Amino acid sequence: MNVLVLNSGSSTLRFQIIDTDLERIEGDADRRLSRGLVERIGGHALLRLESEGRGVVHEDAPLRDHRAAVDRVLRWIVSEESSIESVTSIADIHAVGHRVVHGGERFRGSVRLDADVMREIEECNALAPLHNPANLRGIRAAEDLLGPGVPQVAVFDTAFHTTMPPAAYLYGIPYSLYRRRGIRRYGFHGTSHRYVAYRYRQHMGIPREDVNVITLHLGNGCSACAIRRGDSVDTSMGFTPLEGLLMGTRCGDLDPSIVEFLALEEGMQFTEIDSLLNKQSGLLGISGLTSDMRELLREEEENQDRRARLAIEVFCYRVRKYVGAYLAAMGGADAVIFTAGIGENSPEIRGRICSGLEWMGLELDPKRNAAAHDGVTAEIGRDGSRVRALVIPTDEELLIARDTVRVLEGAPLPGFAR
Ligand code: ADP
Repeated sequence: MNVLVLNSGSSTLRFQIIDTDLERIEGDADRRLSRGLVERIGGHALLRLESEGRGVVHEDAPLRDHRAAVDRVLRWIVSEESSIESVTSIADIHAVGHRVVHGGERFRGSVRLDADVMREIEECNALAPLHNPANLRGIRAAEDLLGPGVPQVAVFDTAFHTTMPPAAYLYGIPYSLYRRRGIRRYGFHGTSHRYVAYRYRQHMGIPREDVNVITLHLGNGCSACAIRRGDSVDTSMGFTPLEGLLMGTRCGDLDPSIVEFLALEEGMQFTEIDSLLNKQSGLLGISGLTSDMRELLREEEENQDRRARLAIEVFCYRVRKYVGAYLAAMGGADAVIFTAGIGENSPEIRGRICSGLEWMGLELDPKRNAAAHDGVTAEIGRDGSRVRALVIPTDEELLIARDTVRVLEGAPLPGFAR
């Protein structure tokens, strides 16, 4: 089954075509036929298109909206130019899986899209005013262009975290605000944490109930997740993705009084403060240089840049603090798992995060840590380390494609509580 995976942001569209079905899932034999990214939708857009046969193609084109972007992508996919042998017409796309950011408390798993589900996603718009409307635009565009006969499935960033207990998800504000407005911690990156936990379970050959791990998704966005008996019991992102770890451009944990202070003392508007905390903070804000961890490490090493070093220190310290907190919250964990851009690719950062954690039984093996490479699950802990350390590459698009197949076939969705 050829599944189109769509991830639509406010001005971007990421897509993949993955050939998968229950048999391919069973054999881990899913095939990625094509992938790409459209940026700057709503103006002169930039496209990066890639397929098995053709390699990478860069293009630019004026694209008015998400419908135009999906249309352009579909045309390319079925064209001779993309050389995807098994997809030569729209009829060769059998289903669509969408990443949807916010499913509130309502969606505890992935679901087939219909008018009722769309309405319920729309009801979550207030909780994710930038993301959910963009996701809905992608869903409507795909429905429009592929026709109502092609089934669509929604996979939510929040769903995996719906098992968090109230002690972890409530804020210390009047309870009525939770009841009336849904102000609570939801958590994000759920598809990534769930995928990585599933791969860990496969790697270890253990049942879901035996998965007691801390997963660290360290990319541009960063979050930690405490997984006990297979369920997410706490995660570092909250009401929005702003809470928790220090990220590329997001501040992470912050005293909320700073918002009022900035308004009064700096005369800033709320939208300006929002942009400051989401787009100009984090690694970028502290270093004053870049949000890219690779460049920060280079600046630190080659130029002894003090603020690059500070940014890296705050980053690692915050992760270490969360690991300690989650170990306490879970009553111990069997493994700490690194994933996403920084987590998968930087032995240096993994080493700094774990340094000083030997007392609690987490000891890295420097050779194994340095040798872990692209796209492969690797144990990086020392033999005999009480807490294992692993690198497990994430693949949210693959899980979205697999969930799409499973939802349509009525098969169980691994990783979700039943
Ligand atoms: P996103 O959250 O946008 O999916 P990624 O998971 O691709 O982001 O992670 C991007 C981050 O990963 C960037 O900060 C980048 O600097 C970092 N990164 C990628 N490769 C390395 C590396 N070899 N060393 C350190 N950081 C890296």
